[in-house]
This record gives sequence, C-alpha cells and structure tokens, in this order.
Amino acid sequence: MKRIILKFKREKSLLRKHPWVFSGAIETVKGNPVSGDTIEIFSLKGNWIARGSYSEKSQIRVRVWTFLEEEKIDSDFFERTIQKAYKNRKFILKGISSSAYRIVNAESDNLPGLIIDRYNDIFVCQFLSAGAEKWKPVIVEAIKKIFSPESIYERSDVAIRKKEGLIPIKGLLYGKEPDDLITILEDKVRLFVDVKNGHKTGYYLDQRESRISIGKYCQNADVLNCFSYSGGFGIHALNGEAKSIVNVDSSAPALELAEKNQKLNKLQNHSVEYVVGDVFKVLREYREIGKQFDVIILDPPKFVDSKYHLNKAARGYKDINMLAFQLLKVGGFLFTFSCSGLMTSDLFQKIVSDAALDANCETFIVKRFSQAMDHSVSTNFPEGYYLKGLLLQKKI
Ligand code: SAH
Repeated sequence: MKRIILKFKREKSLLRKHPWVFSGAIETVKGNPVSGDTIEIFSLKGNWIARGSYSEKSQIRVRVWTFLEEEKIDSDFFERTIQKAYKNRKFILKGISSSAYRIVNAESDNLPGLIIDRYNDIFVCQFLSAGAEKWKPVIVEAIKKIFSPESIYERSDVAIRKKEGLIPIKGLLYGKEPDDLITILEDKVRLFVDVKNGHKTGYYLDQRESRISIGKYCQNADVLNCFSYSGGFGIHALNGEAKSIVNVDSSAPALELAEKNQKLNKLQNHSVEYVVGDVFKVLREYREIGKQFDVIILDPPKFVDSKYHLNKAARGYKDINMLAFQLLKVGGFLFTFSCSGLMTSDLFQKIVSDAALDANCETFIVKRFSQAMDHSVSTNFPEGYYLKGLLLQKKI
C-alpha cells in the first residue's frame, strides 16, 4: 500500500479537514509512490486519517481528495465531486447575471489543484497539482458527461505548475477549437474573451461583482481605470453614464481588446482613452500636470508571491494608493483592490489608510469587496480567500 506516516501529532490540521500535508510533517513514505499517485495518510499511532495525491517535488507533499475511508478515488469520485461543486453553486449561480463563472474552485471544492471555469459552453480548466494532472483524462470525461460541453480547453500555462514538477501547458482537450474571441454577457455588458491566450482562464471572473457594482458611482464622472486589462470596469462605468474613461495597462493586446469591447457595446461615441504604460509612472505624470478624476480604480496584479516580498509589495500598494488619492477630486471614489493572498484585509486597510494620510486627505470606507461568490472559500481552507477591495470616498 502506498502510504505516508505522519510525525507525532502532525495530523492535527487534517483532523480539522485542512487538505494539505507539508513535507515537514511526514515521518516516513512507504510503497514508493510517484507524483500523482493516490496515497493513504496515517498518524504515527497507525490511525487512517485521509487519502490524497502525492507530489514528490512540492513542499505540499500530499493534497487530500477525501477524509472518508470508504471513498475510493476513481472516475465516479471525480464525476460525483464535480457534480457536487456544481450543485453547491446552484443557488449562487441563480444570482449571477453572467454567462461565465467558476464551477470548480480547487481545494474549496475538495478537488485540490483543479479549476473549471465556464464561458458559455466552453469549459476552461487548469490542472495545477500533480494529482489533478494525473486524473486529467478522467476529469475531461466527467465534464463531458455532466455538461455536454462544446469544448474543453486547458489553460495550465502557469508558472505555479513548476512547483509540482509539471511544465506549463495549454490546448484543446475536447470538442471544437474555440474561436479566437468569444463573447460573454456580464450583467448588462457584453465582453470579448480570449480563452486561448487571455489572462488566467481568459478573464478575471473573480472581479465580476465589483465591476457590476461600479456603474452607480459613475454618473457624469471622469474615470481612471488602472490595470484595466480588457476594460471591464470601464465598460460598466460607461453603462453607468460616466463622462470619460482612461484605461491604463502595461499590455497593448489587453488594451486592443478593451477597445473592441467598447465597440461591441456600441459605446464608440464616448470619450475613452487607452494608455499603454506602467501605472506607477502614469499616475506620477498625471500628478505633475494636475489631472483630477471623480472615480479611480486600482486593480493591480498579485504583488506578493512569498512572505519575503510582503514589505516590498506593501510599499507598492501604498505608493499607487497615495497617488490615486492625490488625483482624486474631493467627494470622489477610489476602488482599490489586492489579490495577494498573503496580504490580509487588515494589513491592506492599514496600507490604504497610511496612503490617505500621506496624500493629506480624509476618507470614508463606503463598501468592502471580495472575490465573486462562485470563487467560494471553504471554511476549512482559509487560503482560498485572496481578493479584497475597498471603496473609499474622499471627504469634502
Ligand atoms: N481590472 C481587470 C483585471 C486587472 S489584472 C479586470 O477587471 O478584468 C491586472 C492587469 O494589470 C493586467 O492586465 C496586467 O497586464 C496589468 N499590469 C501589470 N503590471 C502593470 C503595471 N505596472 N502597469 C500597468 N499595468 C500593469
């Protein structure tokens, strides 16, 4: 039997249903497992604790598939667990006015390392752990059986796979090759998505709720949309009757897509500027020339990859938030986000508060945001919570 035996008392987190076993918690490995193998987890006293997938290369040496001794890991398991994830979301999905959403959110859905996002009838998957990789063909069959999709497309072209000893990879897994651009509906807005080459699985689905909420703050507003990607926040702002938008992103293809999205929504007659550049620099240039905005969005990429980078990231967040407060008119709104899991909500709020002080302004916290509901966080896996945001108003 392929199994690991844990060090004395190192089953504690597993008994609380946390799905990870770190290499340092393991006393011995028996049965010569290789990456992806299903493996039994025992306490030092010899009690069966859980069953998971082994990963030779990763510090997270085992990820748990099940805490039920009688539950086998086979094709039925994957079909049943994907079904469950879908059923668990039925209520949430009813409230989502979008044709694109997450169906499986990895550890939080008891499927460590597996992401399944749905864009209309195209299912885009990421296999991020050795275990998910091993069961890929079975998972593809399960998706076919449950959803009868048009296509299943893999977007495992992410560096994090290297930690599992896997190379980044992408491509069609089943069905028709998706068009270069597909159209999704996000509330009242239509958006082009490139599932084959776009960021993440094509679009930042986790920001859906924040994007949809922005319109009502934008009537007659001059809006600065920093880190705009394909312009989603800006299109929702225009729908909320914004006067003008400036989209800033370092990626020229992202801004080309943003321009297409403006046309798609028949908003060509509105004033929209596309600025390819580094937000840190662009904000400084705007400060130099005294530009001011009614609404500013700061939705940067992940600045923190490890605890060692937290200080540097904190400086980055403080810098852009301070600049944003300086460019914001009194009474104006700042939507500011952090998608770094290592940055806690408390620390983020402190950084933003310090930035307001440095900009010599007083602000209210009007609203708090987090990742969209379909990116659910299981209570036994708090690491699943990563996206946090604040809506602040500059006091008059
Ligand atoms: N707000 C977007 C998602 C933003 S993701 C949405 O709702 O869809 C972060 C974006 O920041 C990416 O598009 C990336 O190209 C861009 N980016 C990363 N570093 C940047 C920098 N220093 N300056 C400008 N854009 C940057």
